[in-house]
Amino acid sequence: MGIKKLQSIRGIHDGLPGDVAKWQKVEAAAKTVFSRYAFSEVRLPLLEPTELFVRSIGEETDIVSKEMYRFEDQGGDDLCLRPEGTAGAVRAYLQAGLTRAGAQRWYYTGPMFRRERPQKGRLRQFQQIGVEMFGVAGPIEDAELLAMARDFLLELGLDQVRMEINSLGCPTCRPAYRDRLVSYLKERANKLCETCNERMEKNPMRVLDCKVASCQSELTDAPEMIAHLCADCDVHFTGLKAGLEALSVDYQINPRIVRGLDYYNRTAFEIITDQLGAQGTVIAGGRYDALVEALGGPATPAIGFAMGLERLAMLLPEVNVSGPDMAIVALGDAVEGHALMLASQLRSKGLSIVHCGGGSAKRQFKMADREGVRFVLVVGEDEMNAGLVTLKNMQTGEQQQLAPDVIVAAVL
Ligand code: ATP
Ligand code: MG
Repeated sequence: MGIKKLQSIRGIHDGLPGDVAKWQKVEAAAKTVFSRYAFSEVRLPLLEPTELFVRSIGEETDIVSKEMYRFEDQGGDDLCLRPEGTAGAVRAYLQAGLTRAGAQRWYYTGPMFRRERPQKGRLRQFQQIGVEMFGVAGPIEDAELLAMARDFLLELGLDQVRMEINSLGCPTCRPAYRDRLVSYLKERANKLCETCNERMEKNPMRVLDCKVASCQSELTDAPEMIAHLCADCDVHFTGLKAGLEALSVDYQINPRIVRGLDYYNRTAFEIITDQLGAQGTVIAGGRYDALVEALGGPATPAIGFAMGLERLAMLLPEVNVSGPDMAIVALGDAVEGHALMLASQLRSKGLSIVHCGGGSAKRQFKMADREGVRFVLVVGEDEMNAGLVTLKNMQTGEQQQLAPDVIVAAVL
């Protein structure tokens, strides 16, 4: 009887060289563009106390109520694999005592874990690139942050996307709006789906975001937060729009964008593509001025966004993973040491080299061929004694004998 082959957990994928090449492209674009906006990379833990997410994301949310990978460790601590990055970033910001250190502009990249139903663009372990800015109230900086997201996508050549913005108000204007929304929803409760009915009391703004078509057609004239903003929120939203216009960032207002959690306020936005079906949001973010305080710090305005690396990668063309520059074929045991030394020297000059490992010439040439190398360097005994090597160009078939110290010049 054969042994059952082990498989990765459903919704958790391996990143093989072709995938990683794309991810690195995305990460490089993030680093380039975010640095121009003076953001620094931080590297934060994958494991955090469960309490952090319960207190920040909230018990009512899908993430905390059913999607977290949560366990008790051997010491009895209640831990979670992080489902998102903002809570950990706020914890780190507070723990490092940076609340008086002026604005902090951070970005990070790494895996997040949510026990969702796996489907295209929806994984259980996925990577996010996240951005957080602490100590800045906006709206000028909000506009710049959104422009940074736009610049990043353009750096990757992704222009088939649209940016949608909204304002979620603040604790001054939201309660009255919320009451108005709840009474509107209650009048239509029997026509709305079960989830909408559940959310109506606890988190009524999330009803606006329901993906069920019959709910959406029932909600066409639902009251909108942007029509009920207080004077300060109105000024903030107007400032955001003016900033985006000054920066030539295309946007649409979508009053249905909600972030669903109480600590989110004012600026909310998404960048969406039509190329990925239902999982079309590639970047999502917003302002969360109440979170730092909710986690025990002083009142500190903050804004951020996060993007799904795998979703973005699906929009990119395949990246050719190029083969090594050169393979070394050593003809006979007597030249082996010399061949190793040449490989080492060429590597130190920056070429990528695979050594074909000795053995018969036939085996070595076959291996060189499989590597997809641009050049093969053949080292024979007579040649070695004459201070020469043979360089074969695998694209043209051309061969030349030359001195080892001109190899690099010959392959450039
Ligand atoms: P969605 O509406 O798609 O469920 P979300 O609101 O849960 O997204 P956020 O928590 O805002 O997503 O995460 C930001 C981004 O991270 C998303 O826009 C998406 O690109 C990516 N993302 C979120 N969940 C997943 C997942 N399970 N698999 C892959 N990418 C994800
Ligand atoms: Mg989700």
